[in-house]
Amino acid sequence: MLGWIVFGSGGDSLHLGHVDHRHCETCDRQRPFSLHLRYRYGHIYWVFAWVTMREYLMICDVCSRGWELDAKKIRESLKEDPIPFMRRLGWTFPVGLIASFVVMGIIGSAIATVSR
Ligand SMILES: [Zn+2]
Repeated sequence: MLGWIVFGSGGDSLHLGHVDHRHCETCDRQRPFSLHLRYRYGHIYWVFAWVTMREYLMICDVCSRGWELDAKKIRESLKEDPIPFMRRLGWTFPVGLIASFVVMGIIGSAIATVSR
């Protein structure tokens, strides 16, 4: 039966904005640098998704080379998560649906007990 479920994965790179000018080792001169977030996600039917990997990178705007940053520090400095909501929390929908059925079942049996 598992063969009927469509699993997959994807990835994306988000440009989070220009940061500052600094010396680029590749260009060997002052260059504008930008913050990028590269991530990968797994999904079921492209809807129920979760993030499997994320990397925050400081990249030279000219040669596209750079280095990885401390993800924890960057996450704390960002006001909101740049990854689209459904890619991060799509997996909560089936879980939430099952949870609400369980809750409804409990309430339903509680009502049945009271009215008996
Ligand atoms: Zn460069």
